[in-house]
Amino acid sequence: MTGARPIEPLAFDDGDLQEIRRSVAALCARFPGEYWREKDRERAYPAEFVGALTQAGFLSVLIPEEFGGSGLGLSAAAAIMEEIHKNGCNGAACHAQMYIMGTILRHGSQSQKTQWLPKIASGALRLQAFGVTEPTSGTDTLSLQTTAVRQGDHYIVNGQKVWTSRAEHSDLMLLLARTTPRDKVRKRTEGLSVFLVDMRDVVGGTLTIKPIRTMINHATTEVFFDDMKVPAENLIGEEDRGLKYVLDGMNAERALIGAECIGDARWFIEKAVAYASERQVFNRPIGRNQGIQFPIAQCYAATEAAALMVERAVELFDAGKPSGAEANMAKLLAAEASWKAADMCLQTHGGFGFAEEYDIERKFRETRLYGIAPISTNLILSYIGEHVLGLPRSY
Ligand SMILES: Cc1cc2nc3c(=O)[nH]c(=O)nc-3n(C[C@H](O)[C@H](O)[C@H](O)COP(=O)(O)OP(=O)(O)OC[C@H]3O[C@@H](n4cnc5c(N)ncnc54)[C@H](O)[C@@H]3O)c2cc1C
Repeated sequence: MTGARPIEPLAFDDGDLQEIRRSVAALCARFPGEYWREKDRERAYPAEFVGALTQAGFLSVLIPEEFGGSGLGLSAAAAIMEEIHKNGCNGAACHAQMYIMGTILRHGSQSQKTQWLPKIASGALRLQAFGVTEPTSGTDTLSLQTTAVRQGDHYIVNGQKVWTSRAEHSDLMLLLARTTPRDKVRKRTEGLSVFLVDMRDVVGGTLTIKPIRTMINHATTEVFFDDMKVPAENLIGEEDRGLKYVLDGMNAERALIGAECIGDARWFIEKAVAYASERQVFNRPIGRNQGIQFPIAQCYAATEAAALMVERAVELFDAGKPSGAEANMAKLLAAEASWKAADMCLQTHGGFGFAEEYDIERKFRETRLYGIAPISTNLILSYIGEHVLGLPRSY
């Protein structure tokens, strides 16, 4: 960055993470703006980028060494995701593997881990699809309608999911479906189960995938289950306890999304500083005008504060301590910081911010997602209000 102290990586980094960051940055340098622009234009999946990350072992850092991964903590995963975004790339093509992994690691049986994890670690199997959201239930996960009914040694799945991202580029899907009707459960949070679906067996038959074209290149889809058979051995953990397993992984997901947002924010700030320093209007750099300089400084301060919260959430998670409040605040603050930085960066670049070749309009669209998915800002505020501050529940 011109004329400024270089942006520090998250402070929890030790030597190993610095090395990981350097390697990720080197890998990202092979995938410059033109690569992402072309993919964006074609709405094409960045298979080469995901392949390179897989080959380098970055997507399997959370898998224990005995199953072929590197057995590192969330801090390593967060450093990788942040670095990808800080270098102008987009981890959304493959971040789900990191989020989904926890459900199998924490709640899968030994035989499931032995069967699946080594192949996921080597890249022989892609675990990128997470089927939770449905068109009618939205954020209200307990209202989901997809059912899985046990018949002998199988479950028969019927229903529909929406926004199931990367389904076309994944072999496996982690699926949340109802196994006990809502009016028959003892506790309202019970009755949902998690399955690891091997989509290779069913796609084009009892599983139909339909792409949804969106404002970003996200490979998202609708999926339809029509009497889809899932072997009972693919049930993760106990039947009816799936929501708990999925929620268990949410803190990691929130912190990792936070890290991606910090990466985006730092990318925007770096671009803005460089442009504000070199662009001459009225015979002086535009960055000399405080109308340009102060928003950049404001975004820098907000990003660094949010990064501390991400760091805190990751530390607590890795120490096995409760991290719900911090993970939610990290996601909230980091998503706000990246969106503000995106807007500031566009404004700093004036008309040129709209030109595709600057990559700003693309990153601007991409980072907007994190105010909505995987969880919207309102629902995070509701978590903080009700679960952290003890305010009356709204739903
Ligand atoms: C590009 C993209 C990729 C996605 N990928 C996946 C994926 O891979 N897997 C998956 O399962 N899902 C995925 N999603 C879905 C995403 O998680 C949901 O869009 C998100 O959780 C919000 O749900 P919804 O869109 O149904 O909004 P709704 O639940 O319909 O909510 C609409 C708006 O109302 C607000 N709202 C709702 N209830 C309340 C309340 N009680 N109080 C205050 N405000 C409220 C919400 O905050 C939101 O702003 C993806 C979405 C997108 C756009």
